[in-house]
Amino acid sequence: SLNRRSEIQEQRLRLPILSEEQVIMETIREHPVVIVCGETGSGKTTQVPQFLYEAGYAESAMIAVTEPRRVAAISMSQRVATEMNLSSRLVSYQIRYEGNVTEDTRIKFLTDGVLLKEVQRDFLLTKYSAVIIDEAHERSVYTDILIGLLSRIVPLRHQKGNPLKLVIMSATLRLKDFTENSQLFKVTPPVVKVESRQHPVTIHFNRRTPEDYLAEALRKVCKIHRQLPEGGILVFVTGQQEVHSLCCKLRALFPVPASTGGKNAASTGDDDEDEPESSQLPKISLDDYPVLPLDEEAELEQTEDDDLETLDESDDNTSLRGSEGRREQPMYVLPLYSLLAARGQAQVFKPPPEGSRLCIVATNVAETSLTIPNIKYVVDTGKVKTKFYDKVTGVSTFRVTNTSQASANQRAGRAGRTGPGHCYRLYSSAVFNDDFVEFAVPEIMRRPVDDLILQMKDMGIDKIVNFPFPTAPDNDALQAAEKLLLLLGALDKVTPVKTTRRTKKVRYSTRITPLGRTMACFPVSPRYGKMLSLAHQHNLLPYVVALVAALSVQELFVGVDKPTEEEEEKEDQKQRRTQLIRQKLTWAGAGNSQLLGDLMVLLKAVGACEYVGCSPGFCEKYNIRHKAMLEIRKLRTHLTNSVNAVISGVNLAVDPHMAPPSEQQAKCLRQIVLAGFGDHVARKMDNPSAEGDTKMLKYAYQTLTLDEAVYIHPGSVMFKQRPQYVVYQYIDETSHMYMKGVSAVEPD
Ligand code: ADP
Ligand code: MG
Repeated sequence: SLNRRSEIQEQRLRLPILSEEQVIMETIREHPVVIVCGETGSGKTTQVPQFLYEAGYAESAMIAVTEPRRVAAISMSQRVATEMNLSSRLVSYQIRYEGNVTEDTRIKFLTDGVLLKEVQRDFLLTKYSAVIIDEAHERSVYTDILIGLLSRIVPLRHQKGNPLKLVIMSATLRLKDFTENSQLFKVTPPVVKVESRQHPVTIHFNRRTPEDYLAEALRKVCKIHRQLPEGGILVFVTGQQEVHSLCCKLRALFPVPASTGGKNAASTGDDDEDEPESSQLPKISLDDYPVLPLDEEAELEQTEDDDLETLDESDDNTSLRGSEGRREQPMYVLPLYSLLAARGQAQVFKPPPEGSRLCIVATNVAETSLTIPNIKYVVDTGKVKTKFYDKVTGVSTFRVTNTSQASANQRAGRAGRTGPGHCYRLYSSAVFNDDFVEFAVPEIMRRPVDDLILQMKDMGIDKIVNFPFPTAPDNDALQAAEKLLLLLGALDKVTPVKTTRRTKKVRYSTRITPLGRTMACFPVSPRYGKMLSLAHQHNLLPYVVALVAALSVQELFVGVDKPTEEEEEKEDQKQRRTQLIRQKLTWAGAGNSQLLGDLMVLLKAVGACEYVGCSPGFCEKYNIRHKAMLEIRKLRTHLTNSVNAVISGVNLAVDPHMAPPSEQQAKCLRQIVLAGFGDHVARKMDNPSAEGDTKMLKYAYQTLTLDEAVYIHPGSVMFKQRPQYVVYQYIDETSHMYMKGVSAVEPD
């Protein structure tokens, strides 16, 4: 039995979940699947694994606890080991690259992606007697898939006489997707609610919603620090870069004297020195890449510091500086984000140096998975960085958007753990009511699923239509994905398995091909994955990497479209438009290069821009969006790293002086594009029906999928030339159905 230290025991007894131990354990004993929900900080993550351990579940097999974030897997395993007074040999963790699991491990914290990989090797998860899925409310795609898989594994284990217990833990109360879903769990799992002592939190909305939420956050923290009674401050921003920027400014304003032991006075970040800087992307290995938890990827993204307005330029700098001469109370400022080393994270649980006020600047990792003690004031920017997927290209980008109302309320709740608190929302109540969605839409429904299907097939899940998702992507999305993957050669059909008499439809099953396995390794949509897989064969990797990066970033050029007929076009606008198309035509060049069309323009623009170090002046001159170019640069590095990890021995590097492709290379590039976009071919119409826009008739093209005619966009270098067959990246519907990113299939 356990020998806990007395002060730990005292702390535990204060947790609301302790009084529920008996109810929780009885429910688990009687039911194979149990949902435990309760406010953040009520003790779910640290206590439930201990309850199971003490009830004997770790005697013959292990207890697994999954977390969507690596940060939580590590810190929670350490905390639980400390509380149980056991070594990390028994309470261990396993994340992508590291872990301290031993033969003696009884409780194992792991990321949901790592457990997913384990299912691939041992479908019945026989090493475990219980699996706890933590933070299920986050609805990460991997958590969702795991819950789907476990809903089948649990009954199978029961049949085999070696039952597995599944405990799903969640913070917010949106449980319908798990409980009212008979496809998932035939018997509705019981829900144990943990009531927690929550002190009142007063919400203060801003009257207006300022654009620059970081500047506003800085201002608000200064004000709280100068005017309000003691108590810790917790600020929510969107990413690692913002965390650091705000930390630096606050430390400069309210330094902690070195004598008090506050190390943040002298240095601005040595507490996370051993973490990868944002400029060094982590090594990516074939085995691990596809299971990178999404929110952590989001924090790897390096945002440029356009928020780094210096304080002196701020119109409000007197209020930031405070009154001259008076020594101000020091502020002990700590960063908190997913990738922060455990040592840095542990800091937030310690009391600040005497005489200083604690201020934690965090990403939404502090929203639910970590509970920070002694927070009295929460400053909420109302923003979150999320991955978005282009419905057409499937390419992902990161965008900062409003959080959901549920998230904002979670954030506010952080202020009421130790006593009554205050939450300062840096947006108006109208924005909260009208612009914030109630709950975030589960990730799996926000994105096209071709990449997901490829991943699942790569894992050996074959009948995806029957897969019990907590919320399933819609059938059309699934079918479209499978069709595309067949076309790309990532899957192939296995002989028809069944003919249903009523519909006479031949049903076939599909399985992943070796090409599909390679494609599954790249962090881009399967189309681009295919292009990258083929590029290796033709020694074209540097070009395809640059091209895929450029194609993934929308609208590289500043929009100088022709105005509609009603509007008068201004002279300078007309000039710019002509200049841009002339420049594009120069970049397109001649011969095979020219046949690559808009894609060659992208490749040349990226090459030229990198050659001059991506200078804003160059971008301005050539109507290139500087920000888009910086994004392309980041993605190019990222893709180069993954190519190196996937294809051994290529040693690819990003060459800022990449020469334009040769004639032969340009020709091969066209074939590679066609391999990824074979279903995006259009043919010039001979006799376009007169129903359409008569002026546009001679420009009309017929695609493989659409009934109506489409047109080459006037901004394309292929607009005038109108080749017989073209291949396009996507179709944009504005005044007409316009094809964008156009190349010729063959010379006419
Ligand atoms: P939940 O999972 O319900 O959000 P947790 O089990 O994570 O709750 O946290 C329970 C309590 O344990 C919280 O009050 C938190 O402050 C405390 N706690 C968690 N980790 C640590 C740690 N590393 N050091 C000190 N206290 C901790
Ligand atoms: Mg928790």
